[in-house]
Amino acid sequence: MGIKVVKFGGSSLASAAQIAKAVAIVVADPDRRYLVASAPGKRDASDTKVTDLLYQAYDRRDGDYAYTLATIKQRYVDIAVELGVSVDLDTPFAEIERRLTDQPERDYFASRGEYLNSLIIAAYLGWTFIDAAEVVRFSDAGQFQPDQTDVLLGNALAQADHAVVPGFYGATASGQIKTFPRGGSDVTGALVARAAMAEVYENWTDVSGLLIADPRVVVDPLPIRRLSYTALRELTYLGASVLHENAIHPVRERGIPINIRNTNHPDDPGSWIQAQAPSTPSGPAIVGVAGKTGYTAVTVHKAQWSGTHGVGQLVFDLFEALNVVVDVALTGVDAWTFVVRTEALDALEQPFAESLSVLRPDKVEFQEDLALLGIISSGAVSRNTASLRLSQALADANIEVFADAYAGDLRIITLPAARHDDAIRAIYDALV
Ligand code: ASP
Repeated sequence: MGIKVVKFGGSSLASAAQIAKAVAIVVADPDRRYLVASAPGKRDASDTKVTDLLYQAYDRRDGDYAYTLATIKQRYVDIAVELGVSVDLDTPFAEIERRLTDQPERDYFASRGEYLNSLIIAAYLGWTFIDAAEVVRFSDAGQFQPDQTDVLLGNALAQADHAVVPGFYGATASGQIKTFPRGGSDVTGALVARAAMAEVYENWTDVSGLLIADPRVVVDPLPIRRLSYTALRELTYLGASVLHENAIHPVRERGIPINIRNTNHPDDPGSWIQAQAPSTPSGPAIVGVAGKTGYTAVTVHKAQWSGTHGVGQLVFDLFEALNVVVDVALTGVDAWTFVVRTEALDALEQPFAESLSVLRPDKVEFQEDLALLGIISSGAVSRNTASLRLSQALADANIEVFADAYAGDLRIITLPAARHDDAIRAIYDALV
């Protein structure tokens, strides 16, 4: 029998009723032995996540934080009372309040959302509580330490048949709390799955897996049943937002599949992410499409560029020195185009064109307000067919493509940001 690690997101644990649903899912399968919990999320559209309330209390630490803190405490009191578990909430909240004035550390406050929810859930299930501060290790400078964490977590899990581990945070060797970026409980879930050598990492959320396109753009898009880690990483990088992008690497390393499931529809199979998604001879021509706006294209012209050795190195060194990530690079003959995040250029101390002057270009052009779309082909139709249909769909919708590039199964199209949604709809209609 393998071990299943289950991670529940904030909306799955937002209230006692949601926690009861999650727990019913957990106990339905004896292989589900380790649970990673988020902080309570939104109960409805107008609600505020506990993590956001904690940041708010922290920001108001010099004045009016009492109401926010009381609101947070009440959420946990309600959850505990409704679930009928008795946990001492007064002591941790007294400590939180003391530290707000005596020892204000932002990450510590943010982490309390996961910490308290996990305490309650562990008590409700009668499972061991493993504090992430003991097993998820960061360096003093705040760098996550994957190898140490793997050993610490592996040892702790080996001593507990069943355990609840709070997501999102860890600590330095001396106990200072550090958090992952927002949404980081997904990362903790992946770390626990890796350390437990799990058979599967079940990530329970409020949607039935990944969808072929963003449901805010396409009406009722089809779900993606199976996809590869690579495809997931590409879609997440380009804007799909179901799983934290750093949650893929730890499980991928050990070949543990990820199954994204819906707490509110536990019978839906969800999406399976694994090393090699089988190519589907029938079905949609694409695995998925995702996109992001906020890009600028920089085109550098210089006569006699191509054929000169070391030019590429020079340009990429420059981008690296300025901390600007290049998302698309197109090399022509004597003009090269680089697509980068606009905010990265805006953050530079001196105008980017001035930095480029070391290259002595003939001309530099900037095209702003662009979007990147990533389209992953499924193999159901030939690449030529898919490619033709896609180009035709964009032409029919009168969408001008600025740049077009392939890398493996991924096609990246750069187009005007204003046409981002239209393009996704056109592609979906033509290829799904
Ligand atoms: N509670 C944290 C957040 O809101 C982490 C998480 O839910 O994954 O970002």
